[in-house]
Amino acid sequence: MTTLTQNSVPDLKCTACGADLLAEARFCEQCGTPVVVSAPPPPANMSPPERPAQTSRSTASVPEKTTSGVAPLSVGQYLGMMILMYIPVLNIILLLAWSFSGNVNPNKRNLARAFLLIMVVVIMLGIVFTLSTGF
Ligand SMILES: [Zn+2]
Repeated sequence: MTTLTQNSVPDLKCTACGADLLAEARFCEQCGTPVVVSAPPPPANMSPPERPAQTSRSTASVPEKTTSGVAPLSVGQYLGMMILMYIPVLNIILLLAWSFSGNVNPNKRNLARAFLLIMVVVIMLGIVFTLSTGF
């Protein structure tokens, strides 16, 4: 009487003698050869990457060209400009000089233009207010 299927798995056979191996056998029961568990094959479409993945290049981290190489204004410079803005006539002269001078720090120039715009708006509002009151 032959026991065809006991605990043997058909796929597992000894590589040396061909005997059926148990499912969890580490060694062949017939010859003692260590059971080589075949590793799962690697994916077939494992083509080596031609180039590293740089498709998602982040452009947000790149600083803008317009402000590159321009030293930022220090706190003292900001304070100096703001204090000078309180001097009645000098402020307009300084703002005009800073706004339209070519060799002024762009940050300072933009700040001067912003001050100038505010001053123009304030002056315009003052004129309108003065005219509307009749004086
Ligand atoms: Zn064997």
